[in-house]
Amino acid sequence: MPVCQSCDKKWTYKQTIITLFRLKCPHCEKRQYESASSRLRSGTLTLLPLVVVLPVNALFDFSVGTALIIGIVIVLIIFGIYPFILKLSSKEEPYW
Ligand SMILES: [Zn+2]
Repeated sequence: MPVCQSCDKKWTYKQTIITLFRLKCPHCEKRQYESASSRLRSGTLTLLPLVVVLPVNALFDFSVGTALIIGIVIVLIIFGIYPFILKLSSKEEPYW
């Protein structure tokens, strides 16, 4: 679970999901940023299913409904894993 770099408090799973798009610490209200290494991991996590699903989709010729369900399941899995790999930084780190 992510640890706030301003107040050193650990975020719970629920708190992380709630603040996922703002990354504001629920304890000290300070803005947090995703660290560069964490961003790399979450980027890979997001791209991986696409790399896997697209060829599989082409191979089996899924209907739009099936593809949609697979897409939703993947998004849910990503959201489920994300709090575990998220690492925080108190300032915005450069992308490269
Ligand atoms: Zn904090």
